[in-house]
Amino acid sequence: MSREVDVIVIGGGIIGCSIAYYTAKAGLSVHLLEQGSIAQGTTQAAAGMLGAHSEYLNETFYSFAQESQALYREFRNHSGIDFGYTTGGILQLAWTEEERLALSRWHEATHLSPEQVCKRMPDIVPSPFGASIFEVDVHVHPEKTAFAFWAAAEKLGATLSEHVHVTKVETVDAGYRIADWNAKHVVIAGGAASAELLPGLQMTTVKGQCMQLDAMGIDLPYTLFHQGCYVVPRLDGTLVVGATMEPDETDLQTNVAGNLALNAIAERFVPGLSRFPVLKRWAGLRPKTVDELPYIGHIPEKENMYVAAGHFRNGILLAPATACMIRDLIVGNEVHKERIEAFDPKRGIFHGA
Ligand code: FAD
Repeated sequence: MSREVDVIVIGGGIIGCSIAYYTAKAGLSVHLLEQGSIAQGTTQAAAGMLGAHSEYLNETFYSFAQESQALYREFRNHSGIDFGYTTGGILQLAWTEEERLALSRWHEATHLSPEQVCKRMPDIVPSPFGASIFEVDVHVHPEKTAFAFWAAAEKLGATLSEHVHVTKVETVDAGYRIADWNAKHVVIAGGAASAELLPGLQMTTVKGQCMQLDAMGIDLPYTLFHQGCYVVPRLDGTLVVGATMEPDETDLQTNVAGNLALNAIAERFVPGLSRFPVLKRWAGLRPKTVDELPYIGHIPEKENMYVAAGHFRNGILLAPATACMIRDLIVGNEVHKERIEAFDPKRGIFHGA
């Protein structure tokens, strides 16, 4: 017998779990379908930075990222769930005059001279052009955060089927049917695999390797960030060092080249850091769109079908804002025109497919 809900979400990563939460919170009945277990895709590979100022792409992206940070603060205050939300923020280092100038345009940052950096953080490699602190760019534990969104969604009545690989979405009178579930609205949040359900959607991946260190005695009050590389101090006292950028690799193995690259990143920030014990190594595949902005919106010619995927380096940061945008499209709330345009899935659909 088929079961009816308002919304089916395909994909239980951070994006799908947050969509389940925000749509359930809006009073919709929601079913989440995941081919494996929730939060075990790219989400569990992330460092968890909410780096609105380190991953700036354009003004639309920036305002969306800021809104997402605010939604995280609200979720932390109201959910009562611990998902590794930290305070502190990101310290972005300037190693050239050009980098210092680029950082100086952010009025919300605290700008430090090289001497001030050395005084505050004697453990790190001195940066000749100082650094800027972005306190608002905190971090979360990505896997715990996806679980937290799912737990909050479940509390509101959302349901979940794990180990269900969706291979087709059937059109029926009242909307769509997937396995034995019927819904008026379907959201594809399958991360890098979303194109399997949307032939013609252009999606590539960029592999990233990370390592987690037991760095007892190194006390970092901030995430250290420089040119896409970072050291993130987790709440349990460990440090996450990341990440490689490997566009042509599609496997999930860690390897010697990755280990060496991560050691070099560690040493770039803290002398001797690469000699601390490695607790864990891992790799993930970042889902990349045609222009590095995510696809969020209606799928052309498919009424009430949406995609929310391709968040590249920023899926953790953008999850709550993405979910609220999808919720607004479903319930008919107004959505900023520039966001509809910037994130329109149409720009990534190859019509020759
Ligand atoms: P996923 O987490 O991959 O989830 C998609 C889910 O859909 C999977 O569980 C999959 O099994 C399921 N699925 C797919 N197809 C189907 C199907 N047909 N049927 C059923 N289920 C299906 N972002 C940040 O914001 N901050 C960071 O610090 C950060 N660091 C990163 C570091 C690394 C090394 C990497 C690799 C990524 C990092 N990211 C970061 C990016 C972030 O991890 C991703 O953008 C985000 O996890 C994407 O989430 P998702 O839910 O779209 O995808």
